[in-house]
Amino acid sequence: MVIGILGAGQLARMLALAGKPLGLKFIFLDPTPNACAADVGKHLVGAYTDPALLAQLAEESDIITYEFENVPVEIIDSLSAKTPVYPPAKALLVGQDRITEKSFLHDLGIATAPFKAISSLEDLQQAMPGIGYPAILKTRRLGYDGKGQVVLKSESDLNDAWAAVKNAPCVIEGFVAFEREVSIIASRSVSGEIVYYPLSENQHDKGILRLATNTRNDPLQKKAEAYINTLLKALDYVGTLALELFVVGDAIIANEFAPRVHNSGHWTIEGSETSQFENHLRAITDMPLGATESLGYSAMQNFIGGVPATEKLLALPHIHLHLYDKESRKGRKVAHATARTDSSETFTDLIKQLTKLAAESDNS
Ligand code: AMP
Repeated sequence: MVIGILGAGQLARMLALAGKPLGLKFIFLDPTPNACAADVGKHLVGAYTDPALLAQLAEESDIITYEFENVPVEIIDSLSAKTPVYPPAKALLVGQDRITEKSFLHDLGIATAPFKAISSLEDLQQAMPGIGYPAILKTRRLGYDGKGQVVLKSESDLNDAWAAVKNAPCVIEGFVAFEREVSIIASRSVSGEIVYYPLSENQHDKGILRLATNTRNDPLQKKAEAYINTLLKALDYVGTLALELFVVGDAIIANEFAPRVHNSGHWTIEGSETSQFENHLRAITDMPLGATESLGYSAMQNFIGGVPATEKLLALPHIHLHLYDKESRKGRKVAHATARTDSSETFTDLIKQLTKLAAESDNS
């Protein structure tokens, strides 16, 4: 069976690496000539909107999926006339705009920070008394890794914040004084089978995920599972889905969802019985889903803009290195390493060493 993927970055690469043992073959469409998934499948080089390449992708694939959430919905509609595409276009339609996304979550009874749509400085001035300080102004579309976001601490920040987003339609949302950031990842198959991963506890810096650690018997696991179950069903979702959450006491507040495999689930490759990548492929091909139990303690460290020397990383026991074969550039995710072990003492020590090495090579 051939799986077509829109995008040939590291997520597509890890999907293909997970799918090969299952006998799956891969074809990617991506405009970057040396895209990092290119050497694990067939690569169609060209624009995502190129009609001839889209037709070829649909022709040569049995099922199509995507690795990024900004795929124009028209493309999914045109592809799915010929070949099934999962996750469904509805997940993109809802998730590509922060206002429709937050409204959808809110209407499903999933808690969010207070938010309001903003399209002018006057809107912002009027909204602030209701939202309160501090608050975050985010562009409605195309924001990721903290890009297109400004924090407002007081009224004196309003003019500069509005200038910084360059008149783009925005959402203003209350700043959540969270104790922890976590994400829940789940997969749902064509037949409706659902599996959930243990919550991942996530640490960000400058809006970019740095460290993601598996949790064990987290008291909020069941609540998070109930949230993502509601979301999966409301979207008629097929594939792997991630929901990012803020934790305040025993409350969880949804930030956003990603209709794809997610960076906070990379530790599942070594740290779970079945990875988020394999379960995404099983879900879209309507195969039984694999068990998601954790194998001991695991955590993934991202390397941004630079990678420590391979010898240094491999000198650490229980470390699994994933180089994405991407040129190092400031702010770019170029590799990650996962620490996995059954001993909590070894784990704590490994994480210390990993984060130190990551800090030394960081260029974010
Ligand atoms: P986002 O692009 O919405 O995923 O935001 C990136 C990061 O900014 C999040 O992971 C949080 O660390 C922080 N952040 C975003 N929105 C809020 C908020 N409403 N309150 C507090 N922190 C936030």
